[in-house]
Amino acid sequence: MIDCHTHLQPHGEAPPMTVARIERYVEAARARGIEKVCITEHLFRFQEAYDALDGWWDDDPDPNLASLARRYWRDHVSGSVADYVRVVEQAKAVGLPVLLGLEMDWIHGRADALRAFLAPYDWDIVLGSVHYIGAWGFDCPEFIDEWAKRDVADVWGDYGALVRELGESGLADVIAHPDVPKIFGHRPADETPMHRLIVEGASAHGTAVEVNSNGIRYTGEAYPALPLLERARAAGLPITFGSDAHRPDRVGADFDALAAWARGAGYEEASWFESRRRLSYALP
Ligand SMILES: [Zn+2]
Ligand SMILES: [Zn+2]
Repeated sequence: MIDCHTHLQPHGEAPPMTVARIERYVEAARARGIEKVCITEHLFRFQEAYDALDGWWDDDPDPNLASLARRYWRDHVSGSVADYVRVVEQAKAVGLPVLLGLEMDWIHGRADALRAFLAPYDWDIVLGSVHYIGAWGFDCPEFIDEWAKRDVADVWGDYGALVRELGESGLADVIAHPDVPKIFGHRPADETPMHRLIVEGASAHGTAVEVNSNGIRYTGEAYPALPLLERARAAGLPITFGSDAHRPDRVGADFDALAAWARGAGYEEASWFESRRRLSYALP
């Protein structure tokens, strides 16, 4: 199996992104029988992204959320995307089984800036993620108070609409952690409307849907819930597997459970991407 979603830096820390650090991820992967690791660092780690997108949070009418988002982005910048790409390319050049990826935040209204950010580099895989509704980082502990002010079904609907935009943009190969709004346990009575929006969005360009084991850690259930995965299967959408590891010891975590989850939804294979071309392997 292949881990298509990993980060070199934990939140709140910025260990240097080096070939030696990547090697630790590869060793951890091997210990779990994972063949390849896609390094998919967050867009907001990079100064170039900050410069290109600076001020997007001011589109939100709530100045408190805008200021929290600005601070979060400012605090997370840890280097240059050009350096990051160089290090992952070096790791490939010395024979480590890694691929060059990015976890790209979908920012409403900023598709052109995101496209321009991606353009200079030879990505293997681009994950698309919705982490913000307006400037509200709904999956992030720093913003958790806002949940008490919102209607849960509305949040899920707003999130689904943003994922549909992301899918329609065609900028990402994979929809990451598709039902991440369940992260803190806020679930509406009917999840189907959001599932429908996500599958509609992914179907626009045949974008893959990620099966992500970080959901198991946080919610006891992988992202996405089985009905969403079944709906993706019925629509003929491919899947990828991701741990969302932010440390080496999480690489490939619970992949046996992910394979069983995918099989439960009717999948028999999973995919990964090289040079943004999709490749597949049979599930164990
Ligand atoms: Zn994410
Ligand atoms: Zn991630």
